[in-house]
Amino acid sequence: MTQIIDGKRIAQEIKDEQKRQAELLREAGKEVALAVIQVGEDPASTVYVNNKKKACAYIGIRSLSYELPEDTSEAELLALIEELNEDDEVNGILVQLPLPPQINADRVIRAISPKKDVDGFHPENVGKLAIGEPGFVSCTPAGIIQLLKRSGIRIEGAHCVIIGRSNIVGKPMALLMLRENATVTVTHSKTKNLKEICREADILIAALGKPQFITSEYVREGAVVIDVGIHRDADNKLCGDVKYDEVSPHTSAITPVPGGVGPMTIAMLMNNCIEAVLM
Ligand code: NAD
Repeated sequence: MTQIIDGKRIAQEIKDEQKRQAELLREAGKEVALAVIQVGEDPASTVYVNNKKKACAYIGIRSLSYELPEDTSEAELLALIEELNEDDEVNGILVQLPLPPQINADRVIRAISPKKDVDGFHPENVGKLAIGEPGFVSCTPAGIIQLLKRSGIRIEGAHCVIIGRSNIVGKPMALLMLRENATVTVTHSKTKNLKEICREADILIAALGKPQFITSEYVREGAVVIDVGIHRDADNKLCGDVKYDEVSPHTSAITPVPGGVGPMTIAMLMNNCIEAVLM
């Protein structure tokens, strides 16, 4: 029987734990505050930003909203970040990506104080992850580790194959899996024999951003499959990088889309906000 990994339930469990943590912090006189910056009105970004604010409200984290016009200059955005870096009442700073073309996202990420970088994208935090020091970790990969652990899936010694090497998902995922003592293979668009390599995985993590690309030919019987992709299919229904109906009967555990990895990303962002207060 395939175990369907219920990200929605696990994320809710974590948010309830965080609610209690935030309460304890408030009792100790510490309030958690997250500054959320959105430039422009990209509809997908607006949905993500609103979901983050909703999660803050549920847990008891104060969210400060900065909605800047589409034509905001890089200098204006950097000035706001500088101001928030200096503000002792702000623990976390989040700039919703993507940014309009006149703004260089790398410069923006580097401008955020590493101590307030709750997305875990700053090179200092990425470096800390690489050498095994505590720091903020990118939320989606951190959420996948929690999904696996809270579903009773053993990571230590498992062969984990990751499809995708982005700075936000694939690379930090590989570093986290190494930290958990998995044997890790990272594959990407130039990988040869992708199917054969994927079929060697005990845990297969699909983060390539191609709708329903992963068919049962990529999956060893009994493997665990984690689907990071989010897309709309021809009927406008949400789907992932994995052809779920075809693949799931061959797995021992699998995440659905929606309701798998997605809800965990926000839960981990909330974790980082709480940690920011304790730093
Ligand atoms: P990206 O486009 O930055 O990276 C995709 C990676 O996949 C690249 O490293 C590329 O080399 C690799 N790739 C592309 N085609 C491939 C192929 N045919 N074979 C093997 N490798 C291939 O994407 P990303 O930001 O890492 O996101 C990946 C997916 O995850 C997207 O669908 C994105 O929407 C989704 N995502 C979901 C969440 C969430 O919270 N659930 C968070 C972030 C990203």
